[in-house]
Amino acid sequence: MAGSGWAPPRLDGFILTERLGTGTYATVYKAYRKRDTREVVAIKCVSKRSLNRASVENLLTEIEILKTIRHPHIVELKDFQWDSDHIYLIMEFCAGGDLSRFIRMRRILPEKVARVFLQQLACALKFLHDHNISHLDLKPQNILLSTPENPQLKLADFGFAQYMSPWDEKHVLRGSPLYMAPEMVCRQQYDARVDLWSVGVILYEALFGRPPFASRSFAELEEKIRSDRAVELPSRPLLSPECRDLLGQLLERDPLKRISFERFFAHPFVDMEHVPGPESLCKATDLVVEAVKKDQEGDASAALSLYCKALEYFVPALHYESDARRKEAIRAKVGQYISRAEELKALVTSSSKKLLQRENPARELLKEMAKDKPRLCAALEMASAAIAKEEEGKDDGDTLELYQRSLGELLLLLAGELRWVLQGHPSCAGC
Ligand code: ADP
Ligand code: MG
Repeated sequence: MAGSGWAPPRLDGFILTERLGTGTYATVYKAYRKRDTREVVAIKCVSKRSLNRASVENLLTEIEILKTIRHPHIVELKDFQWDSDHIYLIMEFCAGGDLSRFIRMRRILPEKVARVFLQQLACALKFLHDHNISHLDLKPQNILLSTPENPQLKLADFGFAQYMSPWDEKHVLRGSPLYMAPEMVCRQQYDARVDLWSVGVILYEALFGRPPFASRSFAELEEKIRSDRAVELPSRPLLSPECRDLLGQLLERDPLKRISFERFFAHPFVDMEHVPGPESLCKATDLVVEAVKKDQEGDASAALSLYCKALEYFVPALHYESDARRKEAIRAKVGQYISRAEELKALVTSSSKKLLQRENPARELLKEMAKDKPRLCAALEMASAAIAKEEEGKDDGDTLELYQRSLGELLLLLAGELRWVLQGHPSCAGC
């Protein structure tokens, strides 16, 4: 029988070899295609007995949909077959193992590494979200890595959980309540937002080395899940405020208060816009072209802001580029842009300092408001002169007098305004 014992099952067209892993519902084997290229694949053998019967057909339909999905951060489902006992999913092989092992081997991941994985996971989730698919069983064991050398995250094992018989105790014990949103366990009523809770747990585990509800017994775990205490974040290791903020918003027990998908994708720690990808370099280059134009036109501050925006795309572009020579070429260019941006920054700072010294914006505004009121204007001029004398430290005895005169004049004007308001303004009639 497939999925148990040591002998791998037989499958037409494939040679099944070592067992890669056993999950909640299936056993996964490494395999070779018999014909042509001897392509390496992973074959997941799902026992039909673990499915609630009516769902077998639904599952097959779902698999058809999954077969059409192509995304760099989702394990590709190449094909499927079935016989009387099993469904066989023929998938892209991921040689880097799963994220659970990756974290365990390093104990914890630095924030920067965790962030890159999170961004890749967010890309996959965005794609699924746009296709109206929820994962429902997100956990490090279901997140695979492409290769050990340059691990790219590949989301696996999704879209099936809803076809399993989920609410018996066996499921909760076999599945991972450690990663399940509290509403899934407590209320058994849930929607796509459960995936965001699980993302929070995975990020927490990557950064702190254990999931937030890690427990020594099932009773302890259940108590933690059912409690209404807010999830606390350990104070160490030190993390950026953006990272802590996101963790807090993901690990919100109440799904209505939990961060939404849209806000998650746009959160500064996820920042999907700047995720390394094939478009990063294009976006960066377009911005540089605009920056150079503004620079030539002599608009230093616009040029500076465009250079800075371009650099925000160059960093992911560098991460994305795998060819060493092209990477070096980008790096050299980026060096030049940074130097120019620094020059521009010095220029903009010194000219804005001068501007500040020349005119105080508040005073300018007052003058503008008093433009067609000559008495008010004169009073304000007097006050400005007094302030200027004081700022320059040239108190030759009449500064105080200037202040008093301008204030006296301003008070008179104010009294006039007040009279007008009290007499004429309808809403003040009863004052
Ligand atoms: P289940 O639905 O039973 O949880 P999974 O699809 O999660 O099954 O697979 C179980 C384990 O098998 C994973 O945790 C992983 O270690 C391994 N595995 C699954 N798919 C692949 C793959 N495509 N390449 C390499 N290893 C895999
Ligand atoms: Mg799994």
